[in-house]
Amino acid sequence: MSMDLMKLRKEIFNELGLNSTNSGVYAAEWVKHPSGKKVVSVSPIDGKDIATILAGSKDDFEMIVRKTEKAQNDWLKLTPPQRGELIRLIGNELRKQKENLGKIVSLETGKTTVEGEGEIQEMIDIADFAVGLSRQLHGIQMASERFEHRMYEQYLPLGLIGVITSFNFPSSVWSWNSFIAAVVGDAVVWKPSSKAILTAISVMKIVTKVIKENKYPEIFALVIGSGAEIGNLMSADPRIKLISFTGSVKSGRVVSETVARRFGKTILELGGNNGSIVSSKANLNLSLKGVAFGAMATAGQRCTTTRRIIVEEKIYKEFTTRLKNIYTDVKVGNPREEGILVGPLIDGDAVKNFTRAVDRAKMEGGKLLAGGKTATIRGLKGGFYVQPTVIEMPKVTPITCEETFAPILYVFRYKTLEEAIKIHNAVPQGLSSSIFTNDLMEEEKFLSALGSDCGLANVNTATAGAEIGGAFGGEKDTGGGRESGSDAWKIYARRQTVTINWGKDIPLAQGVRFEV
Ligand code: NAD
Repeated sequence: MSMDLMKLRKEIFNELGLNSTNSGVYAAEWVKHPSGKKVVSVSPIDGKDIATILAGSKDDFEMIVRKTEKAQNDWLKLTPPQRGELIRLIGNELRKQKENLGKIVSLETGKTTVEGEGEIQEMIDIADFAVGLSRQLHGIQMASERFEHRMYEQYLPLGLIGVITSFNFPSSVWSWNSFIAAVVGDAVVWKPSSKAILTAISVMKIVTKVIKENKYPEIFALVIGSGAEIGNLMSADPRIKLISFTGSVKSGRVVSETVARRFGKTILELGGNNGSIVSSKANLNLSLKGVAFGAMATAGQRCTTTRRIIVEEKIYKEFTTRLKNIYTDVKVGNPREEGILVGPLIDGDAVKNFTRAVDRAKMEGGKLLAGGKTATIRGLKGGFYVQPTVIEMPKVTPITCEETFAPILYVFRYKTLEEAIKIHNAVPQGLSSSIFTNDLMEEEKFLSALGSDCGLANVNTATAGAEIGGAFGGEKDTGGGRESGSDAWKIYARRQTVTINWGKDIPLAQGVRFEV
């Protein structure tokens, strides 16, 4: 590890109470000797080991479920606003630890410093949202057809829920689910990605310190382990009422089938293949910035990364020439350094996937406009770096229908908006979309039933960079899940329709008579 990274590691290990070997299992306390395999946390910045983690086994998982189920029972004795108070305290602690947590996210996933801190800011934002929500959680009242009857809906806690997270948003996705589920009245078992385990341990250390200090039930548990073992145990376990799964379409399909077999609930937040339409009626400077951010931020490793742009013929030449210049100038390198906008990919496999996708795109008729190669970074001996890449495509081809988790942008051209929307909707995924235009009719068409088929539609802004206030998720192969803001909280509850007869007779609905 380079001197700078060693220094950073030492600093955050002290601040966050991490060691070179850490337990990856928590249920009311850290399990000293979990019986799963060892997992190593590697920094993609230089490819070197950061620490070793002892993962959980089947037995550890069983213990966790029992303990957390019990904690959930105690949690039910608190009112939602009392539950919200815990989340408020956690939000305050996250504010204090934002910088340290941001650093561990950056070291472990290769995000730039601002992106690492942005991830923690998202946790703080969702904590605030959940606190407000804890005083709402409203059902509706309906008119009853029966005399002196009242009907209404209430939302009751589900019980235990499981959250399985991807490496690329290693802490915020957990909080999107957990803080809202907690105010609704649930307890949460978390299985993070094995590529972002120190972040998960650090988050749990902070959160459970607040729980202990304020004597709340231990409603948050952690179990580190593989998807094939622990993830599968979670998906198959009927005591876990809901699995919120964030990850690839391939893994999500397995989870979805397993949970459906036992009639459990799922939130599926799967891969995206997001497109932006750039019209000749757009503000070109703004569109270029939007596309560059959408396609290159987080080294193309966001579910909402812009992977395809569809550019109107009239401005195609000018737009692609200017985009090429931006790609040539952008700074790729150590994400801890000032001015670096594109850091590393997560690991060696991700680099192989990048190279394979570039080769396939070329074989399918693509013409390289920028990048296309792996990159070596001065001052670093290892790490997983690639050049941000732009490939002009003659038409929609098989590779452009796949999500390659890397900064590869495919470019298509169009003559009519109908044609652009057709190209845009031609992929199996349906997460995020955008149009750049100042024309009201184009914008409204894009937002109409004949327009974007995605869960998120943006106008004059990038496909990436969602806020927590809206319900987040996508259609088609993206899985149909919604989480975070708006009324997404309802999935963490069971809906109960209540009918109360406060009269002296028992009239029946639909005019049915039953005289006894
Ligand atoms: P991944 O599918 O490899 O892993 C995600 C999680 O699933 C990990 O915790 C993994 O251990 C677990 N897992 C794998 N197989 C499993 C199984 N059979 N049963 C249970 N759990 C299993 O994904 P990744 O590489 O960590 O993340 C990148 C992917 O996640 C991309 O496709 C990206 O688009 C997607 N993603 C989607 C969203 C969204 O909100 N739609 C957000 C972030 C990431």
